[in-house]
Amino acid sequence: MITDFASAKKNLQKNGFLDIAVDVRLDLFAEIKRLKKEKNAILLAHYYQEPDIQDVADFIGDSLGLAQQAAKTDADIIVFAGVHFMAETAKILNPHKKVLLPDLKAGCSLADSAPPELFKKFKDQYPDHLVVSYINCSAGIKALSDIICTSSNAEKIIESIPADQPIIFAPDRNLGAYLAKKTGRDMVLWNGACMVHEIFSLEKITRLKALHPGAKVIAHPECEASVLEVADYIGSTTGLLKFSRRDDAQEYIVVTETGILHQMQKDNPLKTFIPAPPNNACACNDCPHMKLNTLEKLYLCMEYETPEITMEENLRLAAKKPIDRMLEISAHYGL
Ligand code: SF4
Repeated sequence: MITDFASAKKNLQKNGFLDIAVDVRLDLFAEIKRLKKEKNAILLAHYYQEPDIQDVADFIGDSLGLAQQAAKTDADIIVFAGVHFMAETAKILNPHKKVLLPDLKAGCSLADSAPPELFKKFKDQYPDHLVVSYINCSAGIKALSDIICTSSNAEKIIESIPADQPIIFAPDRNLGAYLAKKTGRDMVLWNGACMVHEIFSLEKITRLKALHPGAKVIAHPECEASVLEVADYIGSTTGLLKFSRRDDAQEYIVVTETGILHQMQKDNPLKTFIPAPPNNACACNDCPHMKLNTLEKLYLCMEYETPEITMEENLRLAAKKPIDRMLEISAHYGL
């Protein structure tokens, strides 16, 4: 492990983060709070981050909530505890602010499933179609899109488009299929998927349900249709959290990334939340990209203001238009 910033910076592209030894005696919670204050920085964390990071964040949310916070903050520095496309979205909305991501290699299998050059060729086959892209995509895909959506606002956004306007939906085929069924729209789907939500085991969920007959199955729409069919409630990460607060069941089988269980348990200490198992040997389903961020990496990126997200201006401007459209439609519907 390295001890100086200059050497660590040379290895930044290779490592994705500053590989500097952190004094084990440091109280990282106190240090991060101190850095936030000293640097006028806001720490935004996704629900899928590890509990320690969620507990020290200024705002915890799903993609829509985080984009809305990023759009309205007056902090000088945005520290994004999430994955690359989320920090990129914050940069698109805040070109003059410094946007930091603890680990540049915190990517997303869903975003990676849509390379912009291939998507451009796909889009060119449907010149009359409007492109609605899920926010889990690169700036390059956003720049090729007409409207961005998140799982919180996707249904309203699709419904806001005139019925005779054909639509391409990208990059998540499961969310696209779910939306097509919900809205009755016949959309052309890009064939991408999230590695976390695709591998939930229907068989194991059914077995869990038999063991916990009073438990409700609550699932994210990125899951496969066969899993969604057995769900009692389907919703975005924030939707699942709100449902767990207002619903009167005492047990839930939660079919999404396990990070959300931290907030569910904090909000509902007397209820039981069971993570749905994937179709491998693991008992729960963590996103390996989200979990690349650690408290140490977070502290280092705030201390040294590195790694930073940068973006070419033409790309930023092209990617901003469909995000602005999403924020406008969301505001119109009070989302
Ligand atoms: S959970 Fe899936 S969609 Fe979310 S960051 Fe991980 S790979 Fe991407």
